[in-house]
Amino acid sequence: MKNPGSRTQSSYIELDSARLRENIEFVKNLLDDGVEISAVVKGNAYGHGIHEFVPLAEAEGIKHFSVYGVEEAIGFSEAAGPDSQLMVMGYVDEENLAWVIKKGYEFFVYDIYQLEIALKLAEYLDIPAKIHVEIETGMNRTGISPDKIEDTIEIIKKAGNHFVLSGCCTHYAGAESITNYYRIKRQIIRFEETVKHFERSGVHFKKKHTACSAALVRYPGTQYDMVRVGILFYGFWPSRETLIDYMTRNNLTSDPITSIISWKTLVMSVKDVDIGEYIGYGTSFLTNRQTRIAIIPVGYAHGYSRALSNQGRVLVHGERVTVIGTVNMNLMMIDVTEIEGVERGDEVVLIGFQGNNRITVSSFGEMSSQMNYELLARLPQSIPRITI
Ligand SMILES: *Cc1c(COP(=O)(O)O)cnc(C)c1O
Repeated sequence: MKNPGSRTQSSYIELDSARLRENIEFVKNLLDDGVEISAVVKGNAYGHGIHEFVPLAEAEGIKHFSVYGVEEAIGFSEAAGPDSQLMVMGYVDEENLAWVIKKGYEFFVYDIYQLEIALKLAEYLDIPAKIHVEIETGMNRTGISPDKIEDTIEIIKKAGNHFVLSGCCTHYAGAESITNYYRIKRQIIRFEETVKHFERSGVHFKKKHTACSAALVRYPGTQYDMVRVGILFYGFWPSRETLIDYMTRNNLTSDPITSIISWKTLVMSVKDVDIGEYIGYGTSFLTNRQTRIAIIPVGYAHGYSRALSNQGRVLVHGERVTVIGTVNMNLMMIDVTEIEGVERGDEVVLIGFQGNNRITVSSFGEMSSQMNYELLARLPQSIPRITI
């Protein structure tokens, strides 16, 4: 049997380093002097591909990264250069936490249990654990609750040199929407009070950090020593509201950042269909004219939502055309009746630019009621990523 060719996937994702550079510049301009950046690369770098995104960000001067779990931490360790630091923000089991500590990576202790495991491992390995104490300030998710702060102080003091107190942090419960204004304000107050409490007890952290992209834009006072920014680097806003708020306050007429991702495939086959015929499964699309369709080898198995059936738009020959019929597991059909000379092998853009047109991830999202974050994170790891 013949070996598969070098291209075994029916589509690919392209990352644009020039746009990433501009997005990083944009974020840097929002920062107060001396504030560090941690680039959040959880969810396979928001679907962009952690193995490709990390070196790209490093080339633009980013030195600190954040992930959630162990699998992502392993991805980071394979991709990153020797000078980059990692912070693991989520669940790590005991065995893997030993690996994290040996690697010299930083990690969140989000409850007393995780704090105790960290201490036990640091003692056993005789390697200091670089901890970030996450405190509960009102999101009611992860983080050490107010009634456990005294215990935390006690454990930290007992730990001595087994801990490096890399940080104290919290996360806001929806800084992207003004609806949550009072809740966020209360979180900020609680964070500051708790930090003061630690300090009065002689516990001093190297860095305080709370801000994600939305907090950085809407509550610039939450930057402290470091910001944990994800979505803005990829060229997306945490919400439409955040973008509009930013543009209004800065008198801008266009979005100052650009998505760095493109998702491309090609035409696998073209055919003509008579008027009065249904396209694909079922009866959701009936031709009302002689129709030329192009079949493209991407479906919901590849992360193209079935909710985009009869709705999605893609670009061919620089023109915007519509998905017709239902999105199948591995295929979909598009209407190319209006476009001259579409052939097998022609490039099809699912996300990104072609000619003067563009398919944005958010237009996608509006049509399928997915948010940017979800849509990106669902892009399968198996799609090859290339950087330009
Ligand atoms: C995802 C995440 C961030 C980054 O959020 P963006 O909105 O992408 O900037 C920051 N902190 C924590 C704890 C997160 O989970």
